[in-house]
Amino acid sequence: MLLSLIKILAFVAVVAGLTWGAARLSEVAGGAEIALAGYEVTLGPLQLVLAVALLAILGWLLFKAVGLLIALLHFINGDDTAVSRWFGRNRERKGYKALADGMIALASGEGELAMAKGRKAERYLRRPEITSILVAQGAELLGDRKTAEGAYRELVQIDRTRFVGVRGLMRQRLAEGDTDTALKLARKAFELKPRHSETQDTLLRLQAEAHDWTGARATLDAKRRSGALPRDVARRRDAVLALSEASDVIDDTASIEMREKAIEANRLSPDLIPAAVMAARSYLAVGNGRYATRVIRKAWEAEPHPDLAQVFAQIAPDEDAKARLKRFELLTKARPDHPETKLLQAELLIAAEQFNEARRALGDLPETDPTARVLTLMAAIERGRGTEDAVVRGWLTRALTAPRGPQWVCDNCHHVHPAWAPVCGNCHAFDTLSWTRPTESETALPRGTEMLPLIVGADRGTDLPTTAAATPERPVADARADTSEKPAVAEAEIVSPEPPKPAAAETATARK
Ligand SMILES: [Zn+2]
Repeated sequence: MLLSLIKILAFVAVVAGLTWGAARLSEVAGGAEIALAGYEVTLGPLQLVLAVALLAILGWLLFKAVGLLIALLHFINGDDTAVSRWFGRNRERKGYKALADGMIALASGEGELAMAKGRKAERYLRRPEITSILVAQGAELLGDRKTAEGAYRELVQIDRTRFVGVRGLMRQRLAEGDTDTALKLARKAFELKPRHSETQDTLLRLQAEAHDWTGARATLDAKRRSGALPRDVARRRDAVLALSEASDVIDDTASIEMREKAIEANRLSPDLIPAAVMAARSYLAVGNGRYATRVIRKAWEAEPHPDLAQVFAQIAPDEDAKARLKRFELLTKARPDHPETKLLQAELLIAAEQFNEARRALGDLPETDPTARVLTLMAAIERGRGTEDAVVRGWLTRALTAPRGPQWVCDNCHHVHPAWAPVCGNCHAFDTLSWTRPTESETALPRGTEMLPLIVGADRGTDLPTTAAATPERPVADARADTSEKPAVAEAEIVSPEPPKPAAAETATARK
């Protein structure tokens, strides 16, 4: 809008200037006399200027004509394409200029201009394999799905760009949530370029989402063979897929074959907790307690986890608390200093009603790592010891607002899952769940819980929860403030050559 206004004003100014110049010239006295072969021409100042301009145009035309003449001579000499080349060169120059303009527009985020330049370049160049890419990218930038799809379909028709077209269509379907078609397109893209890492990942993810575990294992194998995946990661992912294959059907009626899949998954990756759990269950289902024990122990040595302890308890469901305490020594002695071991030991001792020993088993966890589980166990211990109710309530109140401790968290989107799954329920990434502590912002505390200590009247616990909740949060908040500060300074450095002081002063005044 502003630009076109400026253009109009500039045009008016130029016309006015020319008229003024012509008027002044015609007032100037004098001129040029040209005498040539008996002819004598007298030119006024204005006529002289016009004659010079005419001469320049004639010179340019002559130059072009010579070019055409040379092309014609080449043509006469037997170069059939010389004349068409002479004309083609002009078209080509215009086409490549449009193409270059389009690329620049694309990089500057001007989708509409990129599309227009792409279409213009196509008119001059007739190279849809390049120009359609420009149009498609411009349309994507604008969010014009229909035009982009048309351009991708054109690209699919051309051998060289078939993959680009299929990939573009696949990404569109993915964005629309049409995973069925996306899966088909991903298979096609994988067929065209089996070593393309992004396609492998997308296909694997879609296959896992569609529970096509066999297909996913084949894709994973291709990925491993193309060297895009370290051997141990490939092994683990294969285990995850084998496990998923088993877990789709596993229940009391699962076939031997499916149980073997779980056992295979455990063999592939002994520290994969859900695989160990399922393998142990499979062994238990056929009455092989010895193997189940071995599987769980091995996994516990790698990474203690409550699910492992739960299955370990199922190996001898009817034993009394004392016998269980004794049998669990196999686990508790394996990783004695791990917090999970301390918690397990405390739970076993509480069940055996040895409350003082249970308190000792917890060690310094209530101070160093007061998770909801630790605090609940503390409440149980205090109750068992016969401490007054207010104290027990104090622990329970703190437990309500305490962090939940490690959970199955997606490494990709930090979504917290109640149980392990091969595919993240939120971002649909494959094999991203790990047993870690969610970041503080993920564990949203129920609203109004800060009032709870007052309501239940737990005098001893009153001030404890707030300090406990504040300490882990503090460093996180500080660290965030630090990182947000840094880029601001860096940007200021880019904008002005003499950075810190004026930039700081500017932001200070801006804040006012
Ligand atoms: Zn996720």
